[in-house]
Amino acid sequence: MSQRLKTKTKPKLDFGTAWDYSPAPDSTPIEIASKYKLFINGKFVAAKSRQSFDSINPATDEVLAKVSQANAADVDDAVNAARKALPAWKKLPASERAKYLFRIARRLQERAREFSILETMDGGKPIKESRDFDIPEAAKHFFYYAGWADKLEYASPGQVGKPVGVCGQIIPWNFPLLMAAWKIAPALACGNTVVLKPAETTSLTALRLAEIFQEVGLPDGVVNIITGDGRTGAALAEHKGISKLAFTGSTAVGKQLAKVTAGTGKKLSLELGGKSANIIFADASIDQAVEGIISAIYFNQGHVCCAGSRLFVQESVYEEVLEKLEIRLRSLRIGDPLDKNTDIGAVNSPEQLKTINAYIAQAKKEGAKCHQLKRKLPSKGNWCVPTWFSGVQPAHTIAREEVFGPVLAVMSFRTPEEAIQRANNSAYGLAAGVWTDKGGKILEIASKLEAGVVWCNTYNQFDASSPFGGYKESGFGREGGRQGLLEYLDFGGAR
Ligand code: NAD
Repeated sequence: MSQRLKTKTKPKLDFGTAWDYSPAPDSTPIEIASKYKLFINGKFVAAKSRQSFDSINPATDEVLAKVSQANAADVDDAVNAARKALPAWKKLPASERAKYLFRIARRLQERAREFSILETMDGGKPIKESRDFDIPEAAKHFFYYAGWADKLEYASPGQVGKPVGVCGQIIPWNFPLLMAAWKIAPALACGNTVVLKPAETTSLTALRLAEIFQEVGLPDGVVNIITGDGRTGAALAEHKGISKLAFTGSTAVGKQLAKVTAGTGKKLSLELGGKSANIIFADASIDQAVEGIISAIYFNQGHVCCAGSRLFVQESVYEEVLEKLEIRLRSLRIGDPLDKNTDIGAVNSPEQLKTINAYIAQAKKEGAKCHQLKRKLPSKGNWCVPTWFSGVQPAHTIAREEVFGPVLAVMSFRTPEEAIQRANNSAYGLAAGVWTDKGGKILEIASKLEAGVVWCNTYNQFDASSPFGGYKESGFGREGGRQGLLEYLDFGGAR
């Protein structure tokens, strides 16, 4: 098992970054085990499958570690461990459950440096994002739900919810540790036990989180982490021993899971894909909006479910916005994700790069005009420069389908009505952005947009206390906030 590194700086007690950050320590290696086992019943155990796969650094093509491929027998062991742990965990005074969550949050803060570096090496995202967003936000979720554990009666006024039971949780690769925290923290606060399956390209921080569960003495079996690909996920979703399935991932797999769980009595929540609209009105602060456009689509290489991938600009400022966007984009740095100055890191996998490039080729074929930053890219790894298309028509594939990469479809509109109609003309309904200096207009437009989250004069702002989730094919159920607890409580009645 890998050993914990000592952080150079004393951890702070606040919610922010727990380690000092300067160029030299960024490249200080952290220890990564060469082979990772499954975490079942409080222990790291060899997979019964005896199979494993490589976890690869997408910026260098280097193999970081071998990760176990759990089969149906391994999934069964994990679910059984979670079932065995359930009665005692449920019965534990809620204030005691809260203490475990609080300790997990604190250890995450204290070990933030190694978690940030590992997240960046395993997933390709810039270190400044892992350091300033992913890891502190993950800790915040544990703190936030620690506070709820003994106040659950306020989560659902007038109704008393019971723990659902064993929760199967399946997560994607874009925010690996944060997605794990979004799922595990509310489930535990409500008295459930968990079997979590991370995505196959980014399993390492979830496995390191299991070390923290051991450190804080979380009772055996309360959280189990099984690694593997879609087959492992399918075995977990189909397992009769789980009472709830929480899935974050593609709409295609989400639809399959809705069928698999239909009629089984399992509670289901789906956080799926998106094609979110970012709407810039002529009266907005254009410089601010340009910053917002960049963060909306190029944050985390565009591997963001709520990425503002459809940009609608009011006709009178269309040229100005595109000109300023191009100038501002020239200052972005692409390259080594471990360099603290890097803005754009590596694409998560060769497969995802292939998908992104296919969408770029298709958009060109359908007649949209392609603009790309000209950059010399590293010879190894998976890279895609920030790309944007003008001359996009609503029927173009690039205006309709999720790319999940740094590719923006730019369109124009004349009136607020047209902006709303075009923004809502999507199979998805996850998020939207509105940029204007008129407060009344913000409220009116936001109330008419079919999106789970609407950001006004900003984009990609998250908080543990704010519910997040979609409409339409972006899924159902909410994560975060009081609403996030309701997904993990059983109120009886039909599902
Ligand atoms: P994916 O659906 O391919 O995989 C997600 C997870 O499901 C992985 O752990 C994978 O191993 C597992 N899986 C794959 N096939 C499965 C099956 N048949 N049964 C059970 N599990 C299976 O998605 P991805 O490529 O990892 O993630 C990208 C997608 O996730 C995008 O569409 C993105 O929008 C979405 N996403 C949504 C949110 C949200 O909150 N709405 C957040 C992050 C990502």
